[in-house]
Amino acid sequence: MSLAENIAKVNANIAAAAREAGRDPSEIALVAATKVQTSDTIRQAIAAGVTICGENRVQEMTAHLADNAYDGAALHFIGHLQTNKVRQVVGRVELIESVGSAHLLDAIEAQAAKLDLVQDILLEVNIGGEESKSGIAPEELPALVKQAAACPHVRLRGLMTIPPVAGPDGNRPFFAKMRQLFVDIRSQMDDNKTSFTCLSMGMSGDYENAVREGATLVRVGTALFGPRPPMHKG
Ligand SMILES: *Cc1c(COP(=O)(O)O)cnc(C)c1O
Repeated sequence: MSLAENIAKVNANIAAAAREAGRDPSEIALVAATKVQTSDTIRQAIAAGVTICGENRVQEMTAHLADNAYDGAALHFIGHLQTNKVRQVVGRVELIESVGSAHLLDAIEAQAAKLDLVQDILLEVNIGGEESKSGIAPEELPALVKQAAACPHVRLRGLMTIPPVAGPDGNRPFFAKMRQLFVDIRSQMDDNKTSFTCLSMGMSGDYENAVREGATLVRVGTALFGPRPPMHKG
């Protein structure tokens, strides 16, 4: 299948899963996970209807930005972000989805203040409690939400997670837990409530279940672009 056909199919699957769950498909946006793709492939994806690109490596993103590869789409940062690379990301992306520590939140606030802008972010939750994974433990989340609310140059838009690799049905309980956390936090917010609207969860193997459990952003790579060569973390 072509890239355009894959995009159409994933969008159709998202819409079907949404309707099945009694949701309006327009509540869910597809984020194309473009890691390891070339600038040309990214342009083709945007021409074929991708409206948001998600990058998880700063170096690749910087190169694609220099190429104007993302023109016509929004850009999200979805990967592990080191504080020493915050300068290359803040103000260059619509949304940083992967803020998983107090330290990183501080660094983003400082850089956004320096640039005199407000950076939209999501807090990344380690919902499976995995040692190896970055993200905030659910019980630490209220403190981080409070910290974010005290950052004038950061706007907390919602939550993101990468659940344990458990197969599509194995992950569904984690998605349900995320949805509950999201609803709980939202209900405790007052003035900022209207901008806390994003729940980013679901990848190629499980995005339909994520949609059934309330995702508003799904991050899909392989199902659009095909398998990636093995890669190193970073
Ligand atoms: C690569 C990546 C995805 C997409 O993964 P696929 O399984 O290829 O769909 C989603 N989220 C993050 C953070 C990623 O790095």
